[in-house]
Amino acid sequence: MPTIFSHAIFSTALGAAYATEPMPARFWVWAGLCSVLPDLDVIAFAFGVPYRSIWGHRGFTHSLVFAILAGWVIARWVFHDEDLKLMKCSRASLAIFFSLALASHLALDSLTNGGLGVAIFAPFDNTRYFAPWRPIRVSPIGADFFSLRGLLVLGSEIVWIWLPALALILLAKLYRRASLTKQTD
Ligand SMILES: [Zn+2]
Repeated sequence: MPTIFSHAIFSTALGAAYATEPMPARFWVWAGLCSVLPDLDVIAFAFGVPYRSIWGHRGFTHSLVFAILAGWVIARWVFHDEDLKLMKCSRASLAIFFSLALASHLALDSLTNGGLGVAIFAPFDNTRYFAPWRPIRVSPIGADFFSLRGLLVLGSEIVWIWLPALALILLAKLYRRASLTKQTD
């Protein structure tokens, strides 16, 4: 997987592109959490669940079904009607946003050059998929991160995750400014 920082950077960038108003802290916390939630499945290793299993790492919690369900649950149970009014968004659009934030995790994992692929279509199909092109180096666990390999991982994440995240924020801002100018013309 990419490091949790890079996952969080990408999903918060999605949040910045989505938000039209100053959002409450809860929104940003959940946007960040969504990016790492699928990796809770690493506890499966502690229970002896095989990596390849649908309940193993990169299994069900790395599927579109999980992203859609969890996105809906967060939008439904974490945010109240008053929050939505403040954030000027509908519950449906919030659910779509959180599902996308979760799905960004699957997309980034599928771009990594190590481990097993991602069970995107679980529980209907437990095949593990990778993107056809995998430029992101898989991150080492623990102390290895402060090694040459760790630095190479960081470099590949800056190029393939941080910079696109920045571009996403800038594009959203430009688009919003352009549509505001059109409205005032
Ligand atoms: Zn993952």
